[in-house]
Amino acid sequence: MGTRRPLATLRHGWRAFERVTRPVDERIAAALDRRWAELPDGVKTPEQVLGRHAVGCEGTHGVFPKCDLKCTPCYHSRDANQVRVDGAHTMAEVEAQMALLRERRGPVAHAQLIGGEVSLLPPDDHAATLAVMRAAGREPMSFTHGDFDYAYLERLALGPDGRRRFDRLSFAAHFDKFMYGRRGIERPPDERALNPYRQRFAAMLARLRRDHGVAYFIAHNMTVTPGNLDEVAGVIRDSHAMGYRMFSFQPAAFLGDERRWKEHYRAATPDAVWAEIERGAGARLDWRVVQHGDLRCNRVAYGYYVGRRWFPLLDGDDPRDVAARDAAYRHFHGMAFTGVPPLLLAARLARLVVRHPGLLATTAGWLTRAVRRVGLLRLARNGFRARPVTFVMHQFMDAEAVAPAWELMRRGETATDPEVRATQERLAACNYTMAHPEDGTLVPACVQHAVLDPGENIALRRLLPLVEVRTGARPGSTAAGHDG
Ligand code: SF4
Repeated sequence: MGTRRPLATLRHGWRAFERVTRPVDERIAAALDRRWAELPDGVKTPEQVLGRHAVGCEGTHGVFPKCDLKCTPCYHSRDANQVRVDGAHTMAEVEAQMALLRERRGPVAHAQLIGGEVSLLPPDDHAATLAVMRAAGREPMSFTHGDFDYAYLERLALGPDGRRRFDRLSFAAHFDKFMYGRRGIERPPDERALNPYRQRFAAMLARLRRDHGVAYFIAHNMTVTPGNLDEVAGVIRDSHAMGYRMFSFQPAAFLGDERRWKEHYRAATPDAVWAEIERGAGARLDWRVVQHGDLRCNRVAYGYYVGRRWFPLLDGDDPRDVAARDAAYRHFHGMAFTGVPPLLLAARLARLVVRHPGLLATTAGWLTRAVRRVGLLRLARNGFRARPVTFVMHQFMDAEAVAPAWELMRRGETATDPEVRATQERLAACNYTMAHPEDGTLVPACVQHAVLDPGENIALRRLLPLVEVRTGARPGSTAAGHDG
């Protein structure tokens, strides 16, 4: 009797350990298999990451549509700035949207807290919303123009008791010269003039880590039009060492508020933008070796800087690197990485290697090639430090293309017109999903912005009206600022 209880406790502990260190989570694997089955045949390529390692990105909508800068173009509909920012509404809506995403797309994913300007949410509401997203298994990233102070960031990261409430925060900060109203630089004359602001934002996160031990991931977002196309390379060259781990470029589309369409955006073609990104990185960027959804929507190049030079994680021209990618897709299928504590991740990887010892040789081979590419001398000169930096281009579609294609898809029809059909193919392989708990549907972000946002914001305008302030200063002025 005396030894039975400790034995039972030991057995129980061992079972719990065995369960938690299992490399593959069957629920994640099943969600990935469902995702793969839903993809159109045209994108089921060997390079495709959706359905193998990820289900794709998710984003919120209709939660805080208001913004206090003016951008041209702006993907928010014209009523967005007539909606009051309301923390309780944001939390409730985000919770419902995340619940549907979890139910339909599995227990883990990356999700963007996006809508208008996230820093207009009071810090406690912002923090509570991030907690709601984490509770649904989502790794949240807050979208911002970055024009807020350190005090806001600190109040977001720390609870009212002054204790850290997040171990890690992620932001996507949008900077480009078509954003008007930033404090200190109302109308940026060029992209270079924004560099101190890019630096300031990255420095705030670095300070937060120093002061409070909060790890961070920051992405740099930029809209590209013919008006700043030839400045893209300079932005990368000037900003690559500021601390941004991702540089994401969005060639402008005719989407959102049509009052803010100012140029002939189509001249900034995907190839022209990608060539500029390559010029800035000083390297050829292979966007085919890892595919996210449809290549007409997304181009991604993973890699790292050693000193001032960027190197790819995988060389698509080297069959051994391609084989390493395939092995990673095969063996990491159903394995969670983001947000997993390092020790736990190490234990899971160790079990994976025990089961598939060939992984060790594959990893060693890949590492040897990576070191050779960089060169031992360069590595030594840079203290054997590599800074991971990913380059991304996301090409939204024009509203006039999306609307008819989506209408046919809703009726279960495939278009006969080749252009409309191409739009349908892209929507069907979408890498960026938004949830509608009211009717249980998931929609591509293009559909959200092109078709659903206008009606949604009109309804929100009634639900969350701006509060009139009687200052007598300006006829029609409101507490919530400009109307975009
Ligand atoms: S949101 Fe639009 S452009 Fe982006 S991946 Fe989805 S369909 Fe493609």
